[in-house]
Amino acid sequence: MRAAIAAILGRLPGLSRLKVERRSKRVLVHEILSIQIFSAALVGALAIATLYWGGQWVLQDNYDRWALQWTEELNELGSPLYLNEDSDARVRLESYVERYSEIDRVVYYATNGSALFSVDNDAAAPPAAGLSDTLLRDATAVVGSRQPYLLSHADLDPRQFEILAPVWTESIVDDGLFGFDPSNAEPEAKTELVGFISIKLDFIIFHDRLLANIKTAVMILLTLLFAFALFGHRALRNALKSFSQLEQPIRELAKGNLEVEFKPAEHREISDIVEALETTATALSERDAELLELANHDSLTGLFNRRRFMEELQNAVTELAQNGQSAALFFIDLDQFKYVNDACGHPAGDRLIRKVADELVRSVDEDAIVARFGGDEFAVLFPNADRELARSNAELVVANMRSMAHIEDDQVFHPHCSIGVTMMRGAHLNHDELIAQADIACREAKLAGRNRFHFFNDAESFENEMLADVGWMNRLRTAIDEDKFELLFQPINRIDTGDTTHHEVLIRVQSEDGKLVSPEAFLPSAVRFGLMSEIDLWVIRHAARAYAQHSENQPQLKLSINLSANAFENEDLHVFVKEAFAENDVPGEHIILEITESLAIRRPIHVERQVAELRKLGCEIALDDFGTGYSSFSYLQRLHFDYIKIDGAFVQDLLKNPVDQKMIKLIAEVGHEAGMQIIAEYVQDAESLALLGKLGVDMAQGFFVGRPSTVPRFASTPISLDSRRKRQAFKSP
Ligand code: GH3
Ligand code: MG
Repeated sequence: MRAAIAAILGRLPGLSRLKVERRSKRVLVHEILSIQIFSAALVGALAIATLYWGGQWVLQDNYDRWALQWTEELNELGSPLYLNEDSDARVRLESYVERYSEIDRVVYYATNGSALFSVDNDAAAPPAAGLSDTLLRDATAVVGSRQPYLLSHADLDPRQFEILAPVWTESIVDDGLFGFDPSNAEPEAKTELVGFISIKLDFIIFHDRLLANIKTAVMILLTLLFAFALFGHRALRNALKSFSQLEQPIRELAKGNLEVEFKPAEHREISDIVEALETTATALSERDAELLELANHDSLTGLFNRRRFMEELQNAVTELAQNGQSAALFFIDLDQFKYVNDACGHPAGDRLIRKVADELVRSVDEDAIVARFGGDEFAVLFPNADRELARSNAELVVANMRSMAHIEDDQVFHPHCSIGVTMMRGAHLNHDELIAQADIACREAKLAGRNRFHFFNDAESFENEMLADVGWMNRLRTAIDEDKFELLFQPINRIDTGDTTHHEVLIRVQSEDGKLVSPEAFLPSAVRFGLMSEIDLWVIRHAARAYAQHSENQPQLKLSINLSANAFENEDLHVFVKEAFAENDVPGEHIILEITESLAIRRPIHVERQVAELRKLGCEIALDDFGTGYSSFSYLQRLHFDYIKIDGAFVQDLLKNPVDQKMIKLIAEVGHEAGMQIIAEYVQDAESLALLGKLGVDMAQGFFVGRPSTVPRFASTPISLDSRRKRQAFKSP
């Protein structure tokens, strides 16, 4: 097993390199111990060296003193031998020499240098030779001096000495016994040389003892060092154990395990390190949590961010592949959101985004995953939803958004949204493709007029729609080229007098079976295929002709013509209108041009310029579908319109909906304040008409007032509610 692991480790170049590197690293315990042992050894060696040299020095000093002492004593002991034959003196001398084993030989010489007798500690020593002349002369010279001897070291061994000293007698010179004056401190002495004494000394025994002691000291030192190494190693390992114990937790920490536990350390220094590491681990965990939060959540709304949502989506796709159920994905984009930023600033936009996020979370079930995808885009995943549930949820979200009101700088914003819905079944698509589908569907919802939802078409229905689209494109192309469009005129009447003030020009196209098809059916295709601006121009040209045709009998005729955003892409729009009017003698004052709220809000510079040019022709400008976007009152005051057309959505349920009533009243008040006239669309009954009048609306349009007709009709609406009811009752059967 071990061999197998070793083989595997051996095959992993990184691991084996690590191991080799680890092995080649210095070991702290060894290093500290080496330093200590080296220091101790150095101190020990110095001590021993000092001991040796000190011992040597002490010995040397002693040798000198002993040498002098022995010389004096032997001199004294030997002098009687020169004077008379004293056998006792000789015996004393021999026993003296015997007492000191350091004394090898003592030789007494005559004054001429010949050896007289000798005393040896070594019985086998050869007989003593005489003194050379030089030695004789030198020894004689030291008589009476402060150092009365010659000291010489043996050539071969510095521990052997030879002392050569003169032997002399001293006597005080006196001319008579009685004349001697003891008070004389330095009486004159008479010195007489009687011979020489040579003493051979060998201190090898002291040296040997010294060396033996030093050897013992070295042995003791080495033993101590060895013991110290053993004990020190254990003690150091013990002391540094807490350090080694840090290794594993630090490795864990490095691997990212922030739950790692550090053992409490006994030593203060290590305890400080442990504390620092624990603080680091805590800080890292907090940082981790923060990073996780940042990595997964959107900082503005606290919802999941795009990255996290994509993960959830991918998981959902994988799960669907296993359980075979279906799920729904919403891609939500706020309508005209830029306007909030433009009108009230970015922080206001942020506040609205937060509010929308809250509303979105409230609107969907708990198991739905809501995320901010970026900018004004949100995404919602319904993990267990069929098409019906997706539809009802989309309806709910659109309705809840619509009913939201956000107040900012005295302006009320109704944030609307467009939702693209795609259904997820099986695992045949990845998360990116699903998002792309929902995004496409969202764009479809935008194209279809915003404030709505749209299901992404799967392959089959997409193909059908494509076919339908292509069919529409061909039909529209033909209609433009062959004038197959038809214009209808719907009256707009004053509510107070019931009189028709003007007619809105509505476009229809003939279907193959001769029926008239309304714009909702073909305008999205027209926008997709870029035919919208041509259709706008067609309408202008034919409305001008229609005016010329019908104004002969009805000079009070005024027409209201819709212009899409695409019409303004044509820089020469006003030139075209001018020419169309001129060709048909249309006075500009009899034409109202309607532009949508979304275009009015943005008012790009080129639209601004062209609207100004159109005004120069005398045309009036109406703001269409007011209330569908950010029914902001501030731009009603800022931008000049002649009419405001309240969107049908406010009028439809007017009688039952007090909020709509308040809204209409407010629009009317603000509009009047800004010098505009208020028109309500979609008026279908007498009660609504009466109520609109009370709320301050000036004019009404709708089936109750007058249906679109091929010829502009001037039919007054009855003024009293009773007569209106009668009129309605008369029409209905
Ligand atoms: P549409 O109806 O076509 O969606 O028009 P829109 O005005 O909503 O424009 P669009 O969705 O294309 O662009 C979204 C805008 O949202 C762009 C940018 O000005 C704004 N926006 C993006 N992120 C933020 C944000 O974090 N805070 C704020 N306040 N605005 C943002
Ligand atoms: Mg948007």
